[in-house]
Amino acid sequence: MNTKNYVLDFDSQIDQKQKLDKLVSISYLKNKKFFGENIPSIKITFLYTRPQMDKVCDQKTPGWLVGYTKNKQIFIFSPSIFSQVSDHPDSDFPYVLTHELAHIFSNELLGFYYPLWLHEGLAGYIAGQYKIRKVKNTDQFSKLHDAKSWNQHPNYPQSFNFTKYLVNHFGKQKITQFLKQLPKAVGKHHYPSEFEKFFQQFFKTEFNNIAQNWLNTHKK
Ligand SMILES: [Zn+2]
Repeated sequence: MNTKNYVLDFDSQIDQKQKLDKLVSISYLKNKKFFGENIPSIKITFLYTRPQMDKVCDQKTPGWLVGYTKNKQIFIFSPSIFSQVSDHPDSDFPYVLTHELAHIFSNELLGFYYPLWLHEGLAGYIAGQYKIRKVKNTDQFSKLHDAKSWNQHPNYPQSFNFTKYLVNHFGKQKITQFLKQLPKAVGKHHYPSEFEKFFQQFFKTEFNNIAQNWLNTHKK
């Protein structure tokens, strides 16, 4: 077990350390397998009530929000009360935990932030959330790029699914290389046009063609 790489903060009257440790180690290893490296000093704090989450996020949080990550700390609802305090079934817990851990690995090792569809998409790909979230409607990727537009239409299913397509199409190695170079080339915050330009430069193919190909396979 990778107990050295993370510490758990939980209510020992509600949760058993051994049980939480097992869940965390499975999610952690999924990330280690994808990224090929360890990230030390992660802290995971388990929450038990919605007001606790509101306090962490400093706002009234919606029922779908079950995890929050800042720097190397994750706040997540305990698997013991997961479905009681959210819209999610208990079975979503491991996916969400892996997703939040993926944000830490991605932030530490790749450091990209925009486009948000790819930032969220990569976490969802690693967590396997494309299996549990069907794509119902599709948006233009430029409309899922920055924080302002993402917050209006957070299309997680599309992001998960298209990222899976990208990884399958180009390979994990190439995608992670691209994501590592992206913030260096155009900055963490940039415009969709700058992303598309660097995409074309890196992959020698047009982003819009790849997006269209995905849409075509997806429609079948
Ligand atoms: Zn996320």
